[in-house]
Amino acid sequence: MNETEQVTLVRVRGRLRDIALPSRCPACGAAAGVPLRVERVFVREHRRQGVITHTTRGVTTYHVASISVPFCTACAARHMAERAATESPPSPLRTTVAMYGVVALVALAAALVFAAFIWNEIAGGWRPTLTFAAAIASGCAVFAGWFVVQAVNAWRASTTPPPTSITAAFDFGDRQMRRFEPEWREYRLRNAGYARAFTQANAARLWDDEGPLALRAARFRRIAGSLRIAAAAALIVVFVLLVLQAGAP
Ligand SMILES: [Zn+2]
Repeated sequence: MNETEQVTLVRVRGRLRDIALPSRCPACGAAAGVPLRVERVFVREHRRQGVITHTTRGVTTYHVASISVPFCTACAARHMAERAATESPPSPLRTTVAMYGVVALVALAAALVFAAFIWNEIAGGWRPTLTFAAAIASGCAVFAGWFVVQAVNAWRASTTPPPTSITAAFDFGDRQMRRFEPEWREYRLRNAGYARAFTQANAARLWDDEGPLALRAARFRRIAGSLRIAAAAALIVVFVLLVLQAGAP
């Protein structure tokens, strides 16, 4: 990166594939014509604090987002050369893929055991035990399916090579959205001229933290919060009334 060049941050609302791309090279600003696949791996932490202990628990999921961006012929050639010259080391994510795969297999096996149990016992007529077994079997199946998806995503992430000095010129972050907000992303653009063209092309959908959409979402979040408190209060009142009624002679 040139010393005088500064990365421009542009926030745009909408999905990655709906973004408008200028027909200029993001790396040098020249006329572009060769589409290159720009891929980024995102790590999402799904954690919450334990009730008894304060250690956080949860899972980490991996996601690959990719977009085809036109670059100029010279930059595309440099990108190819860099890719050919570097051999990426085996990804540490392989362990995660294996781990998620094992969890999925164990859950699937449990689902099958309960399904087999139901199959064997169903001749004697339907009993509450079977309803219970069916609930556990479907729970295990859903759990297994979720981990299969995460294993596939982690595997895709493990095979995604890091950006080259060329594709790094067009960088973007993971999708952002707080409750009631539309999806938006932050784009980090290295070439100032390209950044100007990009901002212009997406002018109608620039995301502003202080904009009307963000403010409306914040208002909805406040209303939802008050509604939850009101609902909890109503539940307590109903409960107290029921207890009083039950206690009455
Ligand atoms: Zn270029």
